[in-house]
Amino acid sequence: MSEETPVMRAPLAGALTNNDTQNLPVVIGVDLGGTQFRTAVLRGAELISRVAQHTGEDTAPEHLIPRIFNAIQQALDEARTTLEQVAGIGIATPGPLDHRTGIVYDPPNMPGWDRVPLRDIFEQHFSLASKEGNAAQLRVFVENDANAAGLGEYLFGIGRGCSNMVYLTISTGIGGGVIVDGKIVEGASGTAGELGHMTIDRNGGRCRCGNYGCLEYLASGTAIARYANEAIAAGQGVELLEFIRALQQHTQEGNELEPSTHEAPGPGHTGSSSDLEVPYITARIVSQAAQAGIPVARAIITNAAEAIGVGLVNIIHIFNPQVIILGGGVTQMGPMLMEPALRIVQERTMKVPLDAVRIVLAELGGNAGLVGAGALVYHYTQTQ
Ligand SMILES: [Zn+2]
Repeated sequence: MSEETPVMRAPLAGALTNNDTQNLPVVIGVDLGGTQFRTAVLRGAELISRVAQHTGEDTAPEHLIPRIFNAIQQALDEARTTLEQVAGIGIATPGPLDHRTGIVYDPPNMPGWDRVPLRDIFEQHFSLASKEGNAAQLRVFVENDANAAGLGEYLFGIGRGCSNMVYLTISTGIGGGVIVDGKIVEGASGTAGELGHMTIDRNGGRCRCGNYGCLEYLASGTAIARYANEAIAAGQGVELLEFIRALQQHTQEGNELEPSTHEAPGPGHTGSSSDLEVPYITARIVSQAAQAGIPVARAIITNAAEAIGVGLVNIIHIFNPQVIILGGGVTQMGPMLMEPALRIVQERTMKVPLDAVRIVLAELGGNAGLVGAGALVYHYTQTQ
């Protein structure tokens, strides 16, 4: 890398298909999230079929899991294939969870979940379903979504061939997946790689994880929105509010916003002489305002970017990776985010690991979760 800025690659939304993956068996991927769940039949990074549904209000496992079973059946039907032809099921889900037991503890965005033995539930269901065909037990693998997406990039995306790599996803929250010597780093109880919860500012505010000044607290989409609301509450947001109102007059509004990063401003959050209600502010709106040159928005983005830069320095010093892959919506903000982050990396990182690393954008785009879920099957059936 030396004096150049690290390579930045635009994400490719489409799937990768090449000769290597043509011979792979088909697998089922499940990408489970707080707002939607998706199932797919895949071969490598190629989606043969895909079924997406809203998770809905009722996320209780006894209601949600049967819906996922139905969606899997639908995906199989659409792909004109059967369970007997499938090599396994990979499930990417929010943590905390233990990959080795397949137990999902209590993801914050999945109310009603408490120590759900997801792997066993799936294995039981699909062993019954395949009884007549006397097929071998279908193997099921459960992994947290960031690890799975990182694995997808490692096997089928921009991390191909890099057996020491770190995947960092920055969206509503910040997650990480660390691959060392070709293996996902899991730790003593399966929670390693929580890169969003490394301390960046030891005097910083309290993060939802209990720690203070975490990267997620400073640089996630939620954090960017929170800082904007705070600026407005402090009376520094007049221009920002004007920008948002103008924006909302020119767009359909509402539906295009990111509901997951909504932070309803509390009473008194006006900061403007206008008596209109304060609109919802999302990271995307702050990004658009920064793009339009509004100083307070630019300062918020720069601040988040510098926190990300410090996080990257830490990652490089700890893991000495060949590549750091950045995924998630916040990383799509372009140079106004990446330039300050990469400047910090250049200024503060030790030379030897700095020369070894490339920092690139994720390649699998919106399907990273599904491809990552499928990648679990390929990875673990090879390594176990
Ligand atoms: Zn935290």
